[in-house]
Amino acid sequence: MHVPALPALTIVDPQLAALVRAEATRQHETLRMIASENYVSAAVLDATGTILTNKYSEGYPGRRYYEGQRFIDPIETLAIDRARTLFGVDHVNVQPYSGSPANLAVYLAFLEPGDTVMGMALPMGGHLTHGWSVSATGRWFRAVQYGVRRDTGRVDLDEMRDLARRERPKLIFCGGTAMPRTIDFPAFASIARDVGAVLVADIAHIAGLVAGGAHPSPVGHADVISTTTHKTLRGPRGAMLMCTAAHARAIDKAVFPGLQGGPHNHTTAAIAVALHEAAQPSFRDYARQIVANAQALAEALLARGFDLISGGTDNHLILIDLTNKGLGGKPAAAALDRAGIELNYNTVPYDTRKPFDPSGIRLGTAALTTRGLRESHMPDIARWMDEAIAARRRDDETSLDRIAAEIRELLIDFPLPC
Ligand SMILES: *Cc1c(COP(=O)(O)O)cnc(C)c1O
Repeated sequence: MHVPALPALTIVDPQLAALVRAEATRQHETLRMIASENYVSAAVLDATGTILTNKYSEGYPGRRYYEGQRFIDPIETLAIDRARTLFGVDHVNVQPYSGSPANLAVYLAFLEPGDTVMGMALPMGGHLTHGWSVSATGRWFRAVQYGVRRDTGRVDLDEMRDLARRERPKLIFCGGTAMPRTIDFPAFASIARDVGAVLVADIAHIAGLVAGGAHPSPVGHADVISTTTHKTLRGPRGAMLMCTAAHARAIDKAVFPGLQGGPHNHTTAAIAVALHEAAQPSFRDYARQIVANAQALAEALLARGFDLISGGTDNHLILIDLTNKGLGGKPAAAALDRAGIELNYNTVPYDTRKPFDPSGIRLGTAALTTRGLRESHMPDIARWMDEAIAARRRDDETSLDRIAAEIRELLIDFPLPC
């Protein structure tokens, strides 16, 4: 197992160094199935830890407010050019600090406070920043929210079109955080065109699948594409906004000086590295394998009687309603964590339980695919999940510990990338 060396940190702050090492061990020994997480490469991690963190660079390449940008400008330009090539877009802004500020910048670019935005409701699989009530986006804008059909678990596009015609949003978000199915970008684009709205495709979860050709691209359909860089794209924590040339100025002005100050140059550099990795032929295999693993896992879970929202998955993500297993999502997630399987409790569409104690769990295969697990491992994972949930129902902690030991044993052969 890899233990981070951290020579300087160990001398200066041994307490913190010990915590990082403990977290590295935890990450090594557990099956990381949180759908939004991944493991970065050693090269991405190297870039993140560089002296680029020392530099202030408010502005954009060639137009900065601080001196000393001789090497920073080409780094940011490299990240921009690589993203433009990889995704095939006109314009890219690599400065948003993370996915949520990136989305907030989109509001700033196109709306005034009180204007109408349309997005998927959080309990249906949307993101907080798509207009959910507790988010600034739901408080400062007039948000209308759509969901998925109860019978199919998929977006009802006819209902959405009716809602859009009635409410006339200026901005429409598609995409979300708990959507196991392919996003129909052309259909959303047709609805947005119909009502004169700007369409934002938030591909935070699936950016790596899009880059690797395992999910259709929103390019040519969405006006703006928002993404994080740290989920399936396997880069550092950060975000990008991509758009058509027509919206380039509005997006750049909204990010800086509209919302942010200086960009995080060490993150920009690591994004450039991640984009370089995502442009390699092996990344296409990676993206395809993520989906193959998720589909193999879905099949194995269905065979064990798990109730999958929408009946399966097209991407990296699986959403399970545990009602028929007789356990809430929260105790199930805690039991699975004890058994070495890390995922999160999640609301399911039309959930009858409370958001803090919902009926479901959400999981994904991006991280375990990075570690090299294949379809052949998925039946064991489904069995462990089933066993852990049954063990929790009879308060059988011995079984949970036995599963954790079996998972540690399996993972010895699948080291972290760094
Ligand atoms: C993760 C995510 C975000 C927000 O990203 P943060 O980096 O956590 O702020 C936004 N939109 C969607 C769809 C996401 O999945």
